[in-house]
Formats: sequence, structure tokens, C-alpha cells
Amino acid sequence: MPPANVHQFTSRPITNPWNVATAAQPSYPPPVVPSDPRISYPVIIAPQLAPQPVIVPATRRGPGRPAGTGAHQMRRRSTHAAAAVPEEVAGDKEIVTAPYQWATTSPFTVHSLSDLISKKINVISGQVQCKRCEKIVTVEYNLKEKFVEISRYIAENKEELRDRAPSLWMNPRLPTCETCETGMKPVISQKKEDINWLFLLLGQMLGCCTLEQLKYFCYKTQNHRTGAKDRVLYLTYLTLCNQLDPAGTFSR
Ligand SMILES: [Zn+2]
Repeated sequence: MPPANVHQFTSRPITNPWNVATAAQPSYPPPVVPSDPRISYPVIIAPQLAPQPVIVPATRRGPGRPAGTGAHQMRRRSTHAAAAVPEEVAGDKEIVTAPYQWATTSPFTVHSLSDLISKKINVISGQVQCKRCEKIVTVEYNLKEKFVEISRYIAENKEELRDRAPSLWMNPRLPTCETCETGMKPVISQKKEDINWLFLLLGQMLGCCTLEQLKYFCYKTQNHRTGAKDRVLYLTYLTLCNQLDPAGTFSR
């Protein structure tokens, strides 16, 4: 017998979910994704072990690169990210349509903090879905506030962490559903390019990504590494922080 409140389960989002938080929308236009069907619900990530790209771009960034060049690479990449976009793909650089206002046209790359602030993008939003009633809501994070929190944590604990994500990152604290007080998981696009990486960083929910998604992110940001999830997750945090603050101390 279906329970009396079965209607709750019919609310599988057909409408544009970005409208959920219309009242709370800040003055900036909503992210570019809204009507984009690429984001799928619910948060089922097909166990597609997508063929892991084996070919490392034909540059000196191969796995055999000497240690200590990481900082330079990351910095270089971030700088290029904000540059004007040529129409054609230059060299091994891939150009995509930025999936969010805060993302650049380089896949898996976000704008720097100063760029975002100068564009008056101070709030980063994303969606979370209740694991029980499947309700989807939009959550907003204050960019600067959250970034300061995370970067301070990294600065204070870097040595102790030893390139591994702490348990808080491995098992993220999730927002609570107002209706049924269950944890709400971030909605993660099946298409890795469209994952809301910055939102996941600020909410410290990157740990909700699969190992495969995290590895792919690291691969695409020239930080290819294999290993256990805590190491790949740590690197994902640092890479995103480095994109936000290329002059910071996030290189390894
Ligand atoms: Zn719920």
C-alpha cells in the first residue's frame, strides 16, 4: 500500500529546478545550465567505467615529469584559463562552453577568486537532493567566506594531512532536508565536464564524487594520479583551490 503522502514521490523534477529558489535568487543571472538537459536526476551515477584515457597530451606534462614543477603547471593553467578564448582549439587545449558562470571555457577549470569578485559573482549555487523524499533544492554558498574557511584549514593542516583527504572530506557533512531531516546529496552531473566542481568544493562535498570522477578531474587538470580515493580527493581540493587562488600555497 502506498503511504498517504505518496504524492511527494511524484515530484520528480520535470520543471526547471533552478526555479526552486527563485525568491532567494541574487541579482546575478542564474547559471547557464538551467534548461540544460545534460543535468540528470536523480543522482544516479551509472557504474560506467568509462574508458580511462590512456593518452597523455603530447607535452612535457607526462607522468615522467620531474617533481617540483607542479606549482608552475597549475599556475600556468589558471592564468591561461581566464584568457581570451580563441575559436579554434590551440594545441592540446580544449575549449568548451562554460557550464556555469564561474567556470571557464577550459574544461574542469574555474575562474580565479579575483576574477569572480570583479565580475560580482560572490555566491555560488548548486543543487542537492534528499536521499529519501528526493526533493531537490538549490543551496548557495558565499564564495569568499567558504574559500577562506577551506584555505585556512589547508594551511593549518597541510603537513599533518600528508596529501590525504581528512575524514571530513571523505564523508562530507550533507545539508539536511527540511521535510524529512535526511541528508541531501549534491546533484552530480553524469557528464563530468558539467559537474559543478566549485559548488562541491565550497560545500566540502567533493567526497560525494566517485573515485573515477575525481581521477578524471585530476587527469584533465594535468594532475594525473592514481591511488586511493583519499589521495585523489586531496589533490582535487588543492587543484580547485589553486585555480581560485593561483598565488596561494596550494601547489604541492
Ligand atoms: Zn527529504
